[in-house]
Amino acid sequence: MTYKLNFDQDEHFDFDDNFPSLGALAKYEPAMVERVRKSWEDERRFVREHLAPLVLSEDLQHAKNPDHISWEMLRLAGRHGRLAQYIPGFMGGKGNALGISMMVNLEEQASVDCAFCGMMGGHGLGLAAVFMSLNMKILQRVADRIAARQNEEKPYVIDCAITEPTAGTDVEEVELYPKARLMCQAKRVPGGAVLNGRKVFISTGHMATDHVVIMPFDQKDAVNTMGCFLVAGDTRGFSLGRMERKMGQKAGSASELIFEDCLVPDDNILLTQDQFPGEKFQNQYKFVLHGVLGMTRTAVGAWSTGTARGAFDRALYLAKRIKYKGRTLIHQQWAQAILTNMHINVMMARGAYLDSQFALMRGFEKIPLVTGFPAWIGDSQVLAWLFRQNWYRKFLHSPWMHGQIMDYVRSSISEDQDARVQQISSLAKVVGSDMAMENCQLATEFLGQAGLRHDQGVEKIFRDAKLLQIFEGTNQLNRLNIFTHYLARHLSGVEVF
Ligand SMILES: Cc1cc2nc3c(=O)[nH]c(=O)nc-3n(C[C@H](O)[C@H](O)[C@H](O)COP(=O)(O)OP(=O)(O)OC[C@H]3O[C@@H](n4cnc5c(N)ncnc54)[C@H](O)[C@@H]3O)c2cc1C
Repeated sequence: MTYKLNFDQDEHFDFDDNFPSLGALAKYEPAMVERVRKSWEDERRFVREHLAPLVLSEDLQHAKNPDHISWEMLRLAGRHGRLAQYIPGFMGGKGNALGISMMVNLEEQASVDCAFCGMMGGHGLGLAAVFMSLNMKILQRVADRIAARQNEEKPYVIDCAITEPTAGTDVEEVELYPKARLMCQAKRVPGGAVLNGRKVFISTGHMATDHVVIMPFDQKDAVNTMGCFLVAGDTRGFSLGRMERKMGQKAGSASELIFEDCLVPDDNILLTQDQFPGEKFQNQYKFVLHGVLGMTRTAVGAWSTGTARGAFDRALYLAKRIKYKGRTLIHQQWAQAILTNMHINVMMARGAYLDSQFALMRGFEKIPLVTGFPAWIGDSQVLAWLFRQNWYRKFLHSPWMHGQIMDYVRSSISEDQDARVQQISSLAKVVGSDMAMENCQLATEFLGQAGLRHDQGVEKIFRDAKLLQIFEGTNQLNRLNIFTHYLARHLSGVEVF
């Protein structure tokens, strides 16, 4: 029995048909769009030649042994530079934190394996938090470690821990924090901070070498006392707890992290409110969380679009092979209507995440580190040289410079633009994940027994897709977020959250 996924999407998947908005953008920014296309072609080769052969067999390994960890998949990502895909080229990475390529490539990965993106998702979320802390010293350290260890048995990855056993939705939006029942708390001590408590459902936790942890110094005033820490996996007082037995996305572990008087040295503190006292930096945590969620919800939109496409691709593949009343499904009109619906769903989901991506790029337009725009910036040899110089690093990594960067970035994003990013990224996440589920539903119904068989892949996508509606804020919560940041913004006197 072979567990290899079969593909023939080349027959129907055309870049220009699928990304017409990028075609329009190419008129104004040809170099950037050309870069996106090249990067997409490279991604498409990678997922089909290297990832696809692992997808079903890896899933079966998890079915046989729930404690299995997908090291082989992580090593594959490392060997092919995917762990550095969110780090700009001039910092030793492979791409741009927030370039269009990141989203388009994520869609491509998810179209072959939603679970692979789950494994990468914890790492991506961790990197988004490190980026948004604007702590260049730790960002460079993390980037250096990823680059240096990507070919090792256990490549260097990080995760991001926010959720607690008693607080999930309530820690996804700053407005809900006052209602949250938090159990984690940090305490300032000479030379660092001591962390106590437990985090749960942390993606990639059992694979990560270091962990980005979000924890307040005062549970009763969490938003104003929040800290962001990089906890090394071998720190005394830190341990891994259980790994969840979840229904899908099994390649990515969902882990419990335990902190018992865990001392984090000053050198590993990414950001705390007390580092930047004063009015200028008020609501700093809101700014960081909004930045992270803007990026990650757009990314979940792209990942979900890829998942919707994965269901569609497999349905199309099988429709050309399964016969009904003597004729292959693809020639039956009712089947064509279902397949077209699935394609429409993919296009709607893609439109939503691309719009969100453009809103993000506009929001962060003054920060090329994040947008990767103009196109040459990622590969700039001058910048790469500069970022390797000790004197420059010393300057860039100083606490004074951290404050300057924070000030510059904060003042360059207006409240309106921030609200726009919040609502549209929530929309990309909701539309994408709902479309992913709808396409799985359509594919399963349409294919009969083939839809339920593990070796055809649709059954696995169905299990994987459901999780997309839950993390990065449940879709219910994201709907409220859209209301708050769009509708309520333009209506007076409406009570929200
Ligand atoms: C596979 C997976 C990976 C994850 N990875 C990470 C990770 O890497 N890092 C991390 O920190 N967390 C992670 N999470 C946690 C995730 O963010 C939470 O599961 C999510 O925020 C929902 O929280 P909860 O599960 O506690 O649900 P609850 O908050 O208990 O919600 C239960 C139900 O109540 C609804 N609800 C709750 N509050 C409201 C409200 N105010 N208004 C309307 N409806 C509401 C919810 O929509 C939901 O339907 C992950 C979760 C999963 C499933």
